[in-house]
Amino acid sequence: MAFNEDSSVSGHDEPWIQWFCGLKGHEMFCEVERSYIEDGFNLYGLRTCVSNFSDCLDLILDRIGPDDSDDSHLTQSACTLYSLIHARYVITAHGLDAMYSKYVAKDFGTCPLVPCGGQPVLPVGLKDDLGVDTVKIYCPKCSQVYHPPPIRSSRTGNTSGVDGAAFGTTFPHLFLMTFNNLSPDPLPVQTTYVPRVFGFRVHKTESTSSTARGADAKSAKSSNGDSPAQKVDGSDPSDSLVRANKRKGRDEGSAPAFLLESTKRRRKNNANSSNND
Ligand SMILES: [Zn+2]
Repeated sequence: MAFNEDSSVSGHDEPWIQWFCGLKGHEMFCEVERSYIEDGFNLYGLRTCVSNFSDCLDLILDRIGPDDSDDSHLTQSACTLYSLIHARYVITAHGLDAMYSKYVAKDFGTCPLVPCGGQPVLPVGLKDDLGVDTVKIYCPKCSQVYHPPPIRSSRTGNTSGVDGAAFGTTFPHLFLMTFNNLSPDPLPVQTTYVPRVFGFRVHKTESTSSTARGADAKSAKSSNGDSPAQKVDGSDPSDSLVRANKRKGRDEGSAPAFLLESTKRRRKNNANSSNND
């Protein structure tokens, strides 16, 4: 599990859980209640996940002081154990309540999609297994999953990711089922961004995929065998750019999508007119 190197600092005076949640990059974690951790039933099956389970538990519950735990390996293991406990806690009633406060305070951040208008997001893991993937954010408005903004360690400048297993795959969806009044209305269809070049819409088939372009090139070839760029005979600036690309020996696929639009339209027109003849 990747934690930034600040997490190995063990000279903390505050309770361990508070210290862990206060670390840079750990803003999404909530403080798990001591009583939850002290109940052995809640930890069932976690003993085998870390090498020194009892010591980790003692460290998390402040049964051993920071001076006794001047061992970065133990701290690292305690962080891993806390993450696993956290994943279980956030889907309990108390855990959901704790996460509610953080959601309302936008501690998890907001959706980067412009039409979502700063919709608060929720942390989500795409996998429940440790060490597989870092935490992502889920937007309940656009129903999309995003990478959270990178966390930069003040000391190393490196980015580090919190493990997605600390939140799990269930949490955000159970959260929204529990607090269904928080579920926002989905994005209206008309808010879809329309790409424009000089004020004109970019044709759908050009903006989607290269496969469409490939298929189009194939159909152009089969229609009359002319190279697509040779069909360009207009006088607008995009045509001259396409010609310039052709002179440089580039094929049509390397031209920007918007430049291909006029050639494609013209090609279709030519095909229609030759059919009419
Ligand atoms: Zn969104």
